[in-house]
Order: sequence, then structure tokens, then C-alpha cells
Amino acid sequence: MIFDAIKIFFSHRKQTIKSIPNSVLPEKYRGVPEITSDGLSSEQLKELQQLCPTSAIEVKPFSLDMGKCLFCGECEKCFPNNIHFTNQWKIWAFERKQLIVHANEKWHAPEPANPVTLLNKTIRMRQLCAGGDMGCELELGASSNVNFDMERFGMSFTASPRHAEAMVLTGPITKNMSFAAESTFSAIADPKLLILSGTDAISGGMFVDSPDIDRSFLDRHKPDLYIAGSPAHPLNIISSIASLTGRTL
Ligand code: SF4
Repeated sequence: MIFDAIKIFFSHRKQTIKSIPNSVLPEKYRGVPEITSDGLSSEQLKELQQLCPTSAIEVKPFSLDMGKCLFCGECEKCFPNNIHFTNQWKIWAFERKQLIVHANEKWHAPEPANPVTLLNKTIRMRQLCAGGDMGCELELGASSNVNFDMERFGMSFTASPRHAEAMVLTGPITKNMSFAAESTFSAIADPKLLILSGTDAISGGMFVDSPDIDRSFLDRHKPDLYIAGSPAHPLNIISSIASLTGRTL
């Protein structure tokens, strides 16, 4: 039996990513954008604004809201001299407005004003899919797989909110799930954290104007962490939670 285990080890080798913060994604990965309005006429700016399906682009002043962005790449394809998505995958914020990228400015993920102190440096989270399409949910699941292995940093998901310190909410929050969001969050003992993962959860994404969406839950509860992406990448998920909780990876 031990020989079988050794054989498997040599065939698979070590699959866990050693250093999460130093990981580099391929150039074609769409992460933090760099934007400039240089050389654009007011008509072109308007055209650029209108092609965005989620109104993530503002003209005055020229800016791109990563909390609304689907990272579809359409704006970069049509205006390659003005919008470029870098492979910078660290995209999180502690205040909603921190996710806005301004023209001719380099954007960096912020440090928390007050990192949360955790007992035993562990955090258990209850994931709630509030009308998501399983994109963000799959990436949250992937954060625990053999490659990313978030549990080595004391981060894990739990089935019961009674055992959790945080709720990770995905999806635009449909009417049918708004009660579930409220009751799940209320089942977590204080003090607790609310984490939004992905564009749909952060802004409603494509569905924000749908009559079947009810985002009033977010009027009653202020999120502690916004993890941007559509969906958010596991590297981003793990690093942002580590940043929120003052943990060094
Ligand atoms: S990449 Fe983002 S900003 Fe650009 S068109 Fe798509 S959703 Fe809009």
C-alpha cells in the first residue's frame, strides 16, 4: 500500500501552489485594467461608454468600475489604445468606491484600515449562492482544491452558518433568495463578516435592473470585503480574505 502511495506521489508530484502572493497568471488573463482617455473624442468616449453591457465605464471623469465590470474584454477589443487589462489578479476592496479605476492611475489593492483579528487565526465561512450562475461558486470551491488549498491558511467553508464566522455571498440576490440571505446571515453569531464575491454580488452585474432582483439585504448589512472578478479567481479569493484578516500568506 505504501508503494502505491509513493508511486502516486511521483506520478502527480507536488501540485499545491507554493506561494500564492507571488503567483503570476498568463498575460491574457484579464485583471486590473489600465485606462486612459488620451486621444479620444467626446463621441468616441460616448461610444465606449455605451458598448459596456453593465455601465461600468463613466466618462466624466473617465473611470472604470471593477465592481460592475464583467471582464468581457469588449472595451479593450474596440479601444485597445485606451483600455488594457493587465494580468494583475489582486482585485479587492473594503469600501465599494475603492474598486473604481481612474484614468492614467495605477490601481493597487488596498490595505484594510482595521484588519479583523481571528481566534486561532482560522475563518470558517458559509457560502450563499443568491441567484448566481455557478461561476463564482465554482471558483470558491476551487479555492479549496489541491492547487490552491486555502485550508492550509486556516480558511474553510462550513455547511452550517452556526459554525461560521463569515458569509460569502455570490449572485445578484434574487427576490427568492433575499430571505435566505437574511436568515443565513442572522444565523451567524456576532461578530461576523460579510464578504461579496464576484461582480453579480457586488453590483448586481447584468441583472441589476431586473424586477426579480431584491438587493435590500445590502442596505441593511455593510459588506466587509468586496472580491472583484467575474468570477473572482481563487488566488484573489484567498489573498483578499488573508488581507482582511491580517494574515500573511
Ligand atoms: S470589460 Fe468590463 S468595462 Fe469593458 S465592456 Fe466588458 S464589462 Fe464593460
